[in-house]
Amino acid sequence: MGLTLKVTPLGGLGEIGLNMMVYETEKDIIIVDSGIMFPEDYMLGIDMVIPDIRYLYDPEKKKKIKGIVLTHGHEDHIGAIPYVLRELNIPIFGTPFTLGILEEKLKEHDLPFKVSLFTVKTGNSITLGDFEIEFIRVAHSIIDGASLAIKTPVGTIIHTGDFKLDQTLEKNAVTDINRLAHYGDNGVLALFSDSTNIEKEGFTISENDIKKTFRNIFRDNNARIIVALFASNIHRISELLSLAAEFNKKVIFSGRSLMTYTKVARKLGYLKIPEDILIDEETIGYYKPEELLILTTGTQGEAMSALSRISVDDHKYIKIKPNDLVLMSSKFIPGNEKAISKIINNLYKRGAEVYYENISEIHVSGHASKEELKFMINIVKPKYFIPVHGELKHLYQHKKLAVNSGIPSANVFVLENGNSLEFNGESECVRGADAYAGRIFVDGKGIGDVGTHTLKERAHLSENGMIIVQLVVDSKTSGIISGPDIVSKGFVFEDYFKELNDVLYKLVMNVIEENQKHENVDWVKVKDDIRKALKKYLNKTIDRHPFIFPMITEI
Ligand SMILES: [Zn+2]
Ligand SMILES: [Zn+2]
Repeated sequence: MGLTLKVTPLGGLGEIGLNMMVYETEKDIIIVDSGIMFPEDYMLGIDMVIPDIRYLYDPEKKKKIKGIVLTHGHEDHIGAIPYVLRELNIPIFGTPFTLGILEEKLKEHDLPFKVSLFTVKTGNSITLGDFEIEFIRVAHSIIDGASLAIKTPVGTIIHTGDFKLDQTLEKNAVTDINRLAHYGDNGVLALFSDSTNIEKEGFTISENDIKKTFRNIFRDNNARIIVALFASNIHRISELLSLAAEFNKKVIFSGRSLMTYTKVARKLGYLKIPEDILIDEETIGYYKPEELLILTTGTQGEAMSALSRISVDDHKYIKIKPNDLVLMSSKFIPGNEKAISKIINNLYKRGAEVYYENISEIHVSGHASKEELKFMINIVKPKYFIPVHGELKHLYQHKKLAVNSGIPSANVFVLENGNSLEFNGESECVRGADAYAGRIFVDGKGIGDVGTHTLKERAHLSENGMIIVQLVVDSKTSGIISGPDIVSKGFVFEDYFKELNDVLYKLVMNVIEENQKHENVDWVKVKDDIRKALKKYLNKTIDRHPFIFPMITEI
């Protein structure tokens, strides 16, 4: 067998989230990123979703794994690492800020062994077995992001990670186009490129451009300003801090993730906080409202976030007053709109003015738009192109862009999770055997013990509610000791239920009496009969289908 490179996505293709890619030669394996996905609406009670990595469990494969290489510190790229490490205790490589964030995350999981973290600054390279990997600086909505140039025995791969080309940031934060072009000139076998914003025409505007909008807002509003943003967006936090200094405002960080991210950024020298500008939220009463800037999280409507609590007047220190100005500085991720609208409505109700994406340009995306994606293809000049990080529609549109940019259609591969590619020593690429890829649901401390069946049950419960029938019986005489009590949860309005309750009670009693005519009452059958009787009645009279739980205790 000649030289080969096998590439297998275990997550991130056909979805936004769960990013995880396996690069594999005969001798070695490296994994790029291990992300989570936040649960979608139908995944009730699920905290998060992680990729299923059973593909890597084979002992032969396990031996080959040299480590996980990280592009940046967003949850959809590092969130699954604590779970992956439980199965594979392998070293992790990333830029200082990415690993700083990961370290904080690992503290919460207290793993039973020490994790080996190796910092690699952008511009530097590491060698892991057959792979030599250079971290190339890219601009994104989190600092210290990297594209990876992966030299393999069969050629060089560029794995962009999440990026935009933003050239107006400070020198040490702009995308390093020179390095990307350098690889392009020396020949790139394949480009794996971020597809998130393929539907956006033109160029993504710079993080710096929105600073002007923010400055205008600060200038025009003599008000207490509350900005909700992603805690990981250190660049934007830094801009807001400098505006606070300029407009003589004190700053409150409200929310744990904001504390964590800024602490790490500060420690590593990525964030300078003007002296004496930060105050504790307990001291809020000592300042006039217009002297304050409050930074907080919860832009996606998360129920437990500070912003959500502020909006329903349930925050210990921050109470919305008329004249407060709230800026929602983030994109509304599809699926979260309802929860976000609720917060905005509540904020208005308490007298605040709210600016959000529909009203004002106070957010820019961290991902490259169409022209930048084209630019990336043109400077990297890959032989093969594989769109990644997107739903299928994004991947197909990105394919079209690549073909229009001159890459032969046969050299562009739209893959789904588990689909593999094999490159050989003659720079040829073919589809390889499919690997198992799937999702695991994490519910509290349980990993993978919630399946789709359980999810269906939860969905049914939340849509239809349930009726519990409680009954205590004497196991010897088969007589009723207490009950039946009929309780409903999430089913019908209380008043209405009182009438319904009488009817249901009679139905249950009929079933019991009917069964008591027999010598030995089979209580399992009684349960079943109760279920059937209530189901039939509710179906016929009110067309409702609640879960029916008869609970019979024999004593
Ligand atoms: Zn990202
Ligand atoms: Zn991402």
